[in-house]
Amino acid sequence: MRLFVALDLPQEVKIRLSAMCGGIPGVRWVKPENYHLTLRFIGEVPGYMAEELDIALASIRAKPFELSLSGLGTFEKSGRVQSLHVAAERTPGLAHLQAKIETAMQRAGLPPERKKFAPHVTLARSDGSSLNKLAGFVQAHNLFRSEPVMVEHFVLFSSRLGKEQAVYTPEVEYALAA
Ligand code: ATP
Ligand code: MG
Repeated sequence: MRLFVALDLPQEVKIRLSAMCGGIPGVRWVKPENYHLTLRFIGEVPGYMAEELDIALASIRAKPFELSLSGLGTFEKSGRVQSLHVAAERTPGLAHLQAKIETAMQRAGLPPERKKFAPHVTLARSDGSSLNKLAGFVQAHNLFRSEPVMVEHFVLFSSRLGKEQAVYTPEVEYALAA
């Protein structure tokens, strides 16, 4: 299975994000139901490993916290824009949960994530040809800010890659408690 750990977003936030999206030819907009904030990409693992990871995730104790989305950005590779995202504020609550998940995943046997955590929700993917238009979009919408939303659980998703957009399935929800 291809797995990742993420935060789901309330419907109102998904609607607000999708209302902002559109109008750039040549980019693939993420479907609103696919919006999420990845906390840990796991990748392909065998079934027995998925069980170990689930046990490790279920043992995490962390408190609910407020999540705020604020500002837009792009990720680039070799000078080409790969994706457009809305950024999440790197608050202590979010950083704490991400760190606990990272520790749990390593204890369960995954190699450490080497990339620095950059919390974001991907809105679109690009083949790199729409650089100027994406830059304009980022500038036009950079004041975007969501109402803070309370995060009370995180989710282990499976991902099936296809010709169209990936299909994400919530496999297990883990509650946060004060
Ligand atoms: P596609 O790969 O077809 O564009 P996708 O990226 O939406 O689809 P996945 O590749 O399964 O689907 O990724 C699931 C989530 O994990 C996404 O949020 C993606 O950005 C993130 N992700 C994927 N690969 C990595 C990676 N190597 N490191 C960190 N995050 C990743
Ligand atoms: Mg991918």
